[in-house]
Amino acid sequence: MCAWSPLIRHGIRHGIRHGIRHGINLLIPPQCPACHAIIDDDGLCGQCWTHIKRITPPLCQQCGRGFAFDFADGVTDCWDRCGRCLTEPPDFDRAIAAFKYNAMSRLLILGLKYARRHDVTPTMARMMANAGAELLNQSDWIIPLPLHWTRYVQRGFNQSAELARATMKAADIAAQKYRPDILKRIKKTESQGYKTRQQRRQNLQSAFRVADNTRCLNGASVVIIDDVLTTGASLSSAARCLKKAGAKEVAVLIAARVG
Ligand SMILES: [Zn+2]
Ligand SMILES: [Zn+2]
Repeated sequence: MCAWSPLIRHGIRHGIRHGIRHGINLLIPPQCPACHAIIDDDGLCGQCWTHIKRITPPLCQQCGRGFAFDFADGVTDCWDRCGRCLTEPPDFDRAIAAFKYNAMSRLLILGLKYARRHDVTPTMARMMANAGAELLNQSDWIIPLPLHWTRYVQRGFNQSAELARATMKAADIAAQKYRPDILKRIKKTESQGYKTRQQRRQNLQSAFRVADNTRCLNGASVVIIDDVLTTGASLSSAARCLKKAGAKEVAVLIAARVG
């Protein structure tokens, strides 16, 4: 067989796919999920992108929360963590967010989760890859925060898994590091809103389980990927579960962070 044939086949397939997509775009032009303006390409329009804001330093070194003010040189190390992390630290060692959760990023994430706007995923993933490149490179395993199976059936996909795969692609991370099989969500948790910290912790007790016969966590550095960090209770609970199973370090990389 001609050595070029796989390349030719790939070229034809790519051409057909591109042609179909171009045809669909002509018939139903893509719209910005936030303002519904007609756009040339996928994702948000240029105007709406300007409302997506990065979280700028100084940041809490553990939970990634932005500090309201900068500290003078010479303060002690304890000031690199926020008050909440000093008094009641989460079980993950580090959290990095690509951008702030605001009205605009909320539309972006709701579009991805509930309106199947998968076209926004590559752009969000590029921002996550930029923010978390070092973390992803140093990790042994990359795990999307799992959904309970009933929610997965309802939604048809796990947005964290979509973001994890796209982020790894954007950061050029070896595909073998992707391990959605390690962590399972075994408890369908109620909404975390309006719960105290203690109630949230109880609500999430034993919500996750590590798959049987998983030995690859011993001494491993793991990154969990999720869409939004609100209270961090679910991510903390997942991190606790991974650490119990032997993980040495657990960091989280999220698209957006509240607060
Ligand atoms: Zn727009
Ligand atoms: Zn903190």
